[in-house]
Amino acid sequence: MPLRVVNPATEEQIAEVERAGVDETDAAVAAARAACPAWRAVTPSDRGRLLRRLATLVEEHGEELARIESRNVGKPIAGARAEVGMVADVFHFYAGAVDKKHGETIPVAGGVDMTFREPLGVVGLIVPWNFPLNIASWKLGPALACGNTVVLKPAELTPLSALRLAELARDAGIPDGVINVLVGKGSVVGQRLVEHPDVAKIGFTGSTEVGRSVMKGAAQTIKRVTLELGGKSANVVFADADLERAAAAAPYAVFDNAGQDCCARSRILVEKSAYDRFAQLLIDATRNVKVGDPDDERTEMGPLISRQHRETVASFVDTSPLFQGEAPNSTGFWFPCTLVEATNDDRVAREEVFGPVAALIPFADEADAIRIANDTPYGLSGSIWTENGARALRVARALETGVLSINSNSSVRVATPFGGFKQSGFGRELGMHALDGYSEVKNIFYATEH
Ligand code: NDP
Repeated sequence: MPLRVVNPATEEQIAEVERAGVDETDAAVAAARAACPAWRAVTPSDRGRLLRRLATLVEEHGEELARIESRNVGKPIAGARAEVGMVADVFHFYAGAVDKKHGETIPVAGGVDMTFREPLGVVGLIVPWNFPLNIASWKLGPALACGNTVVLKPAELTPLSALRLAELARDAGIPDGVINVLVGKGSVVGQRLVEHPDVAKIGFTGSTEVGRSVMKGAAQTIKRVTLELGGKSANVVFADADLERAAAAAPYAVFDNAGQDCCARSRILVEKSAYDRFAQLLIDATRNVKVGDPDDERTEMGPLISRQHRETVASFVDTSPLFQGEAPNSTGFWFPCTLVEATNDDRVAREEVFGPVAALIPFADEADAIRIANDTPYGLSGSIWTENGARALRVARALETGVLSINSNSSVRVATPFGGFKQSGFGRELGMHALDGYSEVKNIFYATEH
């Protein structure tokens, strides 16, 4: 049955797409495999040039891509534009990185020892619906730069931007078979990619539960995996912070993308002596978040992705909230910005809500803040707000997370490594670090003595 693609802001069908099954997946893997030798033989500067051309085409089609993403995910248009801008920057970055990941020479007896970074072969990329094009580019950029060919599976809910990107890649001159996009169910297409003997690696972003099954399935063929999974990140606000700045920024750290963000700082930890004042400032700031029509340039938060997901999010608000904002009361999967008071043992503080619900949790002192922040199976992101520089670094080193920001909530940049500790996954995306996950080190010894 063809797939109905829906706009979550209006519940209207915006496209119908054919679904791939196992046979189509096998054909895509075969096409990617056949394209491998020629793609790996493209000179580094030419590979860089092709990626640069793709980056330029993404820029030239930026408005079109942003509109597609906004309609398919329900993202506010201003945010969608910024995301597409990042996609272009990612391809620019990896265009420049192709010839900058060098091997080594290592002093040994009797000859010369050198290392090369070799491509893995065919790579399966499985991405979610929350940042469809962004997360696809974080994987495509380094995978292609390293000389791999790819099969990309977008989430069924949001396949449209990946399909358009594949067309742009063809227009950029990237040869047929190098990028293959397959729309289909995770349990069918995704699962087949995970198990396929000719797929060398899976780059996965999504839930911890599916991440676990990817890891299990990959074990059969000792496939490499990079897993970028869920999070339950803490935004730690000390009493000596600039409370006005921290409170003004906090809503956007959890309500951006309607909270459907693995980096969402959905636990807001506040030192007891500043709790009441911060809570009032946070309520005032949350009241100002503009929720509504994604086409409106001023909108800051749109709907959730689906009806089913809205039910899941609503199930986390089982007590009277500290504050709940406004949201449209019409068609669309709307849910208002919600602040609840909690302890770290409550479900809302333990599980990833993936919606616009933030839990305020008081702490006694620095040691207590570190204990609470680390008391979670996740370890993706987080923030620390304090005017005491030594404390900021002490706490940053003590937190068990892969990405942190001090006096800021922004931690995703094209040039810097991104990824999790603990059950938030492993492997790093973005920056030069991502190239390690899409290449294999080969060591060669060349005897020079007879
Ligand atoms: P999933 O983990 O279910 O989906 C992510 C991707 O994996 C999708 O492309 C999906 O395909 C695919 N997939 C599903 N099952 C399998 C499988 N057995 N083998 C291989 N691939 C598979 O995330 P959801 O979209 O269902 O979101 C659920 C929760 O995941 C969220 O509430 C959130 O907690 C977390 N999440 C985290 C994200 C992050 O950025 N870290 C992003 C998205 C979700 P398809 O959906 O097309 O069937």
